[in-house]
Order: sequence, then C-alpha cells, then structure tokens
Amino acid sequence: MYALPKLPYAYNALEPVIDAATMEIHYTKHHQTYVDKLNAALEGQVELQALAIEELLVSNAVPAEIAVAVRNHGGGHYNHSLWWESLSSLEQPPSDALRERLIGAFGSVAAFNEQFTAAATTLFGSGWVWLVQEKLGGLKIVSTANQNTPLTDGLVPLLGLDLWEHAYYLQYQNRRADYVTAWWKIVNWQTVEGRIRYT
Ligand code: MN
Repeated sequence: MYALPKLPYAYNALEPVIDAATMEIHYTKHHQTYVDKLNAALEGQVELQALAIEELLVSNAVPAEIAVAVRNHGGGHYNHSLWWESLSSLEQPPSDALRERLIGAFGSVAAFNEQFTAAATTLFGSGWVWLVQEKLGGLKIVSTANQNTPLTDGLVPLLGLDLWEHAYYLQYQNRRADYVTAWWKIVNWQTVEGRIRYT
C-alpha cells in the first residue's frame, strides 16, 4: 500500500507564495486521492504493491486494465511526493556547482529561468514542466501532460512545477504567470541538486 509522505513543513510555511489553504487542500485532498485511487487500482496485486513508486511507474508487469490508473494516480503520487520536497521557505540560491551545470546546459542561469518560465506559461491544459537529467547526464526542460512523469521517458526528474489549476487557482485564479514568477522564490535548490545522478 502506498501512503501520503509526511509534509516537511507546516501548511503556512510557503506563504505568501502559496497560501495555507491551497497547501492543505493540495496535500490532504488531491495528493491523498491519488494515493487512494492508486491503492484501489492495485488491490490484490501483491507483487506490484511491494514496488517502490519509481519502480512501479516503469514496470512492465502492470496489467493493461490498470495501466491508465497506475499512470494517472501512480504518477500523481510520485510527482507530488517530489513536489513537497522541492519547495522551501529558506530562499537559498542554487550552489555554484548547480549553477555551472545550468550554465552548461542553457547558456546562463537567466536563460534557464526564461526557458522554464516560457514552458510553464504556455503549457496547455493540466500538467507539469520539469528540469530533468538525461541518461548521459545533460540537463533539459520537458513538459508532461496530466500526471505523466519524466521517469517513464528514461529521464531523472530534478525539479517539477505543478501547473494544474488546483496548485494555484484559490490564490492566483487565472494569473498563472504570477504563480510561476512567485514560485521561483520557494524552490529548494539543495534538494534539486541532490537528485542529480553522477556516473
Ligand atoms: Mn498537484
């Protein structure tokens, strides 16, 4: 059985960027529902239930009749588990080592920010924008629809931005660009850097 991870801070910790009501509903309702529906889909699937969520999402053993539920609700559980850990009220900038990686991939940190923001403000429908690491180590920006995750494309998710309206609509309504701009202030760059894989 999968379970909601512990939130690493209080609901109001990310104010004013994300208000406490949005955090509480997002965590206790939306994320909880992904967990509940994933567990319901996996009822009786003892071997699949024993997998780590990262393993489940790329497993070839998922029966066709529950593949969509696993992709949607398993993806939702995984993406949101990363999401809470990716945020912080500490406002720490990326380390010099991470900045070097971003400069290597995008030309400058500002260019990375611009490209990511452009992808986030133009994404159509519900989904996520990600900074990912490719198999050979390079960084790039990708978008995923719904709760699809870069994991299933063989990419390592380093940082994801939740662009479902449930992530921001209570506070920002239709002003998605304002949400994206404010969100940069609460990225936990230490966690992002810790997800980089070295070979
Ligand atoms: Mn969400």
